[in-house]
Amino acid sequence: MIIVMKKNAEQGQLDDVVAWIESSGYKANVSKGVERTIIGAIGDERGKIKLKAVETMRGVEKVMLILQPYKLASRESREDDTVIKVGEVEIGGPKCVVIAGPCAVESEEQLMEAAYAAKKAGASMLRGGAFKPRTSPYSFQGLGEEGLRILARAREKTGLPIVTEVMRGSEVELVENYADVLQVGARNVQNFALLKQVGLSRKPVLLKRGMMTTLEELLMSAEYIMASGNHQVMLCERGIRTFETATRNTLDISAVPVLKEKTHLPVIVDPSHATGQWQFVRPLAKAAVAVGADGLLIEMHPDPDHALCDGSQSLKPEKLYKLMEEIESIAKIVRKGYGQKHGLHQS
Ligand code: PEP
Ligand code: MN
Repeated sequence: MIIVMKKNAEQGQLDDVVAWIESSGYKANVSKGVERTIIGAIGDERGKIKLKAVETMRGVEKVMLILQPYKLASRESREDDTVIKVGEVEIGGPKCVVIAGPCAVESEEQLMEAAYAAKKAGASMLRGGAFKPRTSPYSFQGLGEEGLRILARAREKTGLPIVTEVMRGSEVELVENYADVLQVGARNVQNFALLKQVGLSRKPVLLKRGMMTTLEELLMSAEYIMASGNHQVMLCERGIRTFETATRNTLDISAVPVLKEKTHLPVIVDPSHATGQWQFVRPLAKAAVAVGADGLLIEMHPDPDHALCDGSQSLKPEKLYKLMEEIESIAKIVRKGYGQKHGLHQS
């Protein structure tokens, strides 16, 4: 059960509600968001009738019974789409947001060139990894804090907000000092300690689906972040592992409408990691927008042939310019009414 407190609820009123929940045999999970406080009453739903009485307590706006195991993330808990604001950029609103940039920050020159190209293309945010999760310990691991400093300088020059990955709970504080959005990568989607830590941050989180994660598991991971107090979570479909080996992963395109039904959180699609090959990025990016993705994460590199990471799936800047035009015309058709209801109701 979810108890939503009024915007102006006082601490004393919150304490009273928590005490009542606990005396009813439930565990109270208090989640303080920027806008309002939400309490998850965790326990056997059979006691719900008793718990429902909390509705009349001072400071309480509403009480909701949620059937899914993920509570705060569920569409039931919030009918309206969540719109996440990063500076001027809105994710989950009427515009389809494009996040573009190289897999990894390699040098100041490389990142600056990519940043200006992303800006010129009309991308809304710049991506680039400073801490890279690589399959081989001998591969380029990222520039670390120096990479973060370069990203911050690129933001200064272009005005584009920065999306970058954080791999360890102990590094959240460091990364959030530079980043506008914290990325949790596919390999860390069930690193619950990290999820709790980014849940304590006030920076929005881009949570990538793991290569073997069900949508319910992905939503449970989002729930970890939200239960720790950070409600600004965007989900990212980046391809899953299947028997097919022609592409790096298999883009689960149906994840977009399914997630849109199950959750109010914005959904981003990453066709770069899904396919692993630059020539497939364009068609799948267009498909993603057509099925209602709120944004795209696209790897772009000024010189893919010499990239230190994921060059084969990176678009050259000119290819991104072209793709942006196509995306815009598709988005115009499919995104009417987004940022309000999820658009799946038949009228
Ligand atoms: C990335 O975005 O560069 C990345 C490593 O992605 P994923 O975690 O989806 O593999
Ligand atoms: Mn990559």
